[in-house]
Amino acid sequence: MYELNEKIRDLTPYDPITGSYPIRLDANESFLSLPEELRARIGEAAAHAAFNRYPDPLASELTSAFADFYGISPDLVTVGDGSDELLSLLCNAFLMKGESMMVLPPDFSMYAFYASIAEARVVTCPKGADLTIDVDAVIKKAREENVRLILFSNPCNPASTGLSRENVRRLIRSVSALVVLDEAYMDFWDQSLLQEVESYDNLIILRTCSKALGGAALRLGFAVAAPRLTRALRAVKSPYNIGSLAQAAGALLLREKEWGREAARRIVASRESLQQKLRELQEELPGRFSMAESCTNFVYLDVPQAKALYQGLLARGIAIRLMGDHLRVTAGSEQENESFLQAFRALLSEVEV
Ligand SMILES: *Cc1c(COP(=O)(O)O)cnc(C)c1O
Repeated sequence: MYELNEKIRDLTPYDPITGSYPIRLDANESFLSLPEELRARIGEAAAHAAFNRYPDPLASELTSAFADFYGISPDLVTVGDGSDELLSLLCNAFLMKGESMMVLPPDFSMYAFYASIAEARVVTCPKGADLTIDVDAVIKKAREENVRLILFSNPCNPASTGLSRENVRRLIRSVSALVVLDEAYMDFWDQSLLQEVESYDNLIILRTCSKALGGAALRLGFAVAAPRLTRALRAVKSPYNIGSLAQAAGALLLREKEWGREAARRIVASRESLQQKLRELQEELPGRFSMAESCTNFVYLDVPQAKALYQGLLARGIAIRLMGDHLRVTAGSEQENESFLQAFRALLSEVEV
């Protein structure tokens, strides 16, 4: 009998919420759909695609649309099949077996998973009780443990908190490790390091079309780094990782600069309103939950009865994310937020303290 090796033997496939829930606030997606006119142009591009040909391996048009959107040089950009592919690639290519990678929990769960597939040693430097990163502790531990790669999200999923630009700079400058800075949610905050990425020889920034830009279905992620690192990334990625249809659709989406920026603003407004109403609920029901100050498109709640509340919401057709004794709730449309708030308030009054 064929034996699976020990690094994959006990793994189970990723298990997203199945079943149909009228309100989905569980995956940090955008609640806005693409404008009709843009959809029509994407359809037109699809109709004229060269289906018999392999796609452009450097995704040149998409790369230049992305670079133009963010005001950087296309020479610094590598496209991936979602940031997820880039995370997997980074762990596998930039770490040798047994080398150390540092994560800062709570953080995106995929980081430690990809590290384990790469047979790396995972070193953790947990965030403090207020969910902030202790930069001095990270620097100290990175040096002590000879860490080769430090990977964290900023702002953080799931904590929703952010680390200031000045602190991120200090971290990068104080370690010899490669720093992979996952800025998946930076369209909702203003502390990006994209504009200065070329000043560092140990920094790779990840961005995505999946959150603010409302393109999760396209699976497009971007790694931005100085030319030497970009050259290495382009050399290790599989040549035809992005299909022609996704390249064309992503380029059209990113060329709609004003729409993209307006979408991010509307999502931030939704999060602000959700957060404000939750603050009012905290005043009404003191001591029942605490909430981090969000820099993202979701809120992160610390609730003792998290599981019962999560299940109660599901039973009412509202899907959010349960993470231990925390709940993560994506900011949705006005009606979605309102439905969530009403159900959450009713459930909080029902469940045992
Ligand atoms: C959603 C998310 C991503 C984006 O992943 P894609 O594969 O580009 O959809 C990356 N990092 C974090 C922390 C995220 O939450």
